[in-house]
Amino acid sequence: MVRDIFEIRGQDAAGRLGTLSVPRAGRTVETPALLPVVNPHLQTVSPRRLADEFGAEILITNSYILHGSDDLREEVRERGLHDLLDFPGAIMTDSGSFQLAEYGEIDVTSEEILAFQREIGSDIGTPVDIPTPPDVDRERAEEELRTTQERLERAEGFDAGEMLLSAPIQGSTQPDLRTEAARHAYGTDLDVFPVGAVVPLMNAYRFDDVVEVVAGAKRGLGADAPVHLFGAGHPMLFALAVACGCDLFDSAAYALYARDDRYLTVRGTRHVEELEEFPCACPVCSEHTPRSLRERSNRDRERLLAEHNLHVSFAEIRRIKAAIRSGSLLELVETRARAHPTMLDGYRALLEHAEWLEASDPASKDAFFYVSGESARRPEVRRHHARLSRLSLPDRLLLVAEEVPTRTEGVDEVWGLHPPLGPVPPDLAETYPCNAELPTRLDASAYEAAAEGVVALAAAHPETEMRVVHDGWPASARSRLPERVECVRAEPTDSSATGAERGQ
Ligand SMILES: [Zn+2]
Repeated sequence: MVRDIFEIRGQDAAGRLGTLSVPRAGRTVETPALLPVVNPHLQTVSPRRLADEFGAEILITNSYILHGSDDLREEVRERGLHDLLDFPGAIMTDSGSFQLAEYGEIDVTSEEILAFQREIGSDIGTPVDIPTPPDVDRERAEEELRTTQERLERAEGFDAGEMLLSAPIQGSTQPDLRTEAARHAYGTDLDVFPVGAVVPLMNAYRFDDVVEVVAGAKRGLGADAPVHLFGAGHPMLFALAVACGCDLFDSAAYALYARDDRYLTVRGTRHVEELEEFPCACPVCSEHTPRSLRERSNRDRERLLAEHNLHVSFAEIRRIKAAIRSGSLLELVETRARAHPTMLDGYRALLEHAEWLEASDPASKDAFFYVSGESARRPEVRRHHARLSRLSLPDRLLLVAEEVPTRTEGVDEVWGLHPPLGPVPPDLAETYPCNAELPTRLDASAYEAAAEGVVALAAAHPETEMRVVHDGWPASARSRLPERVECVRAEPTDSSATGAERGQ
């Protein structure tokens, strides 16, 4: 089946810049996109302002709340959702699955709520799925997944008109079930793919499990599937989630946190009570101080904090788009990973999927900045090692660390030896990623990755005689080299030295 509503315009790692066509709204939404959650009863920031002042192209509201509201049910039927909320962009609606997970039951069927969503003019509707929490036993995860899958199949038969339909992907914390769920969902003719029930993982700071769940789902989806990380509203998580291949986020956090005097940043959450200064340049933080905000009425303070929270969230989405354009998304993720040890776990979990990241990662970017030990595990390094096995080699090859004077008699070719990539033929030295920029004080991971490159080259060319002249590699890197590769350390003496002596 051809899905032509989602177009990918740029990629970095597994992250995408794209456009989602929403026919019923007559709109095209740029992704990655943030969908502010609007509570129809309690609009902390009005949808009109979300569009005009914050640039929101799409929002999400809950059709189950509208359906259950004696004040609003008939009004929204008469006026339609766009008029009721006064929002010019696209509107996605949730179905009550969250309430089902929270309270154990809801009083509508999936069909009834889909019909209601269509009736009120939703642009992207959602069937009622079963959000299975993390860590449940296999039997329960499978049984609930079967129910979700039946609902998706019935939603396929529903006459949605121009309204797009989402196909939530469940499967608890079992990545293979997430893959199976995703494959099934992708096989339906539904349009948007939310990865569901990850909020408990995010609330518990289990970012590595979030990555595993998303990676599991992505494995079962085609590249043309727009992926929504349901309930991921904290900006500290956006870069990591985009690098995993998520395109849509919804934020209730901006308003919920503001209600508790909490201030969002890309490095985490602060309480207004503990702040002396606002580390932000948004209009709210430019015009107020934490002290002046504390003196405002509760209602004013909540609104102003919600505005700051939105500014910081939309700014992060823009920063991520710029990073994808310039090929520096993983460098942004590395920076974010430094904010909390569990974020670092998330990033490391992502790097364990290097093979999958590599499939979508562009072969050439502006620059590779080596900024931490994790950089040594980026998909570019893995791709370079795979490429080495395809190069043709002479009988006798010398691999020499940069700026190391050495004798070259008796060898057929001299290649560079660049951490974290390892062997680099001269004609690739100035190309990406061999032109990686490194700190002078390098960590062991970079040398170890370079040694893995030599291992890959030696394994692919058993007939080639190989000698390595390094500039002080740590034992953890040297010990990785196969025995048949001669390894010497360059003499760390004056620049007139030309000999290389046998090292440790
Ligand atoms: Zn601010």
